[in-house]
Amino acid sequence: MEHQTGSRNGEGNRYKRLSPNPRSQEYKIGKSMTEHARERFHYLCASIQGKFILIDHIPPKIDNGQFFDRQGLDFSPYKDYKLQPILGIKLFPRTDGTVHPDELKMYHEQFANSWRHSEGGILHNMNDKREFYNCILNYHSLETTTGNAEWDAFFEKLKESGYDKSLVPCAHFGTLTGCMDIDCPFLHDEEMFRERRNKILASRRKALFEPTPKQRFQHMQKTYKSKKKPSRNESALVATLDDLDGDDGDETDDEETKIKVPRVRHFCANMECMKPWLRKQNDVAVLQKCARCQWTFYCSVRSCLDFGLLSVTSRTELSIDCLPETRLASSQVGLRTSGGDHCE
Ligand SMILES: [Zn+2]
Ligand SMILES: [Zn+2]
Repeated sequence: MEHQTGSRNGEGNRYKRLSPNPRSQEYKIGKSMTEHARERFHYLCASIQGKFILIDHIPPKIDNGQFFDRQGLDFSPYKDYKLQPILGIKLFPRTDGTVHPDELKMYHEQFANSWRHSEGGILHNMNDKREFYNCILNYHSLETTTGNAEWDAFFEKLKESGYDKSLVPCAHFGTLTGCMDIDCPFLHDEEMFRERRNKILASRRKALFEPTPKQRFQHMQKTYKSKKKPSRNESALVATLDDLDGDDGDETDDEETKIKVPRVRHFCANMECMKPWLRKQNDVAVLQKCARCQWTFYCSVRSCLDFGLLSVTSRTELSIDCLPETRLASSQVGLRTSGGDHCE
């Protein structure tokens, strides 16, 4: 769906409240979005109030590849809204009713680091039923926490307010579609959503400028070959890749073969060349950043061509622009994709 404004900067209708014409399709969609969010809100209230009964031993669906019993939640004790039971999820309370803290930590990391979760807020988090309801079970255990201080504080605030919808973030306001219901009763806090989004974009940009796992893997293989030491199987090689992430030293030692593997900043993006820019080379720019996408590094396209490393097809592609997937990746994180010279 294409809306009138803002789509050029990739924001679409993010942080906008729209007031579609009552006869339009958008109007109907907006209303059904709010209806759906309202039901979600009641599931949230029932969860915070502990108005549910844990159902155990739901037989597995062998056809779906399930072999163990599933669990579910019956919300019949909640009377403010008719809520259907949620069945067939995996809930893991231990005998004392708590959920393992590592499990909770993993769920909250997932909520915090996923852009969909960050732009949809708690009403979207609830889509991941297993993750969300395990947090809820722990909240009602003797631990009395969801595993996340921010959630706990938010639950407290909601309780004190008598469950005021205007404290609960709208699930659509922070997304590309924007909030399409002008009567939407939920919270529309642009600053909060922007902050969350910026955090995710920053971590994506950081990851973009690091060598990819594929580049690292090939580099490790090359290093092993050149030292003519016994070859190792691929899984062992992959296991050592994380060593390159450490912050100390220009080289890393392979535990088994004792081969020194130099740490790398970037690789030439041409996979057939893959010239490394080593960490110890800190006073010279061994590779140049593509001025167009600001992400890809090349040794120099000309020298790749001189070495006969590029096929005719990739020659043509490179003369037009950097690799297509590069362009895609950079536009996804909102980097500037035009202006200036680019690779050759
Ligand atoms: Zn809204
Ligand atoms: Zn190269």
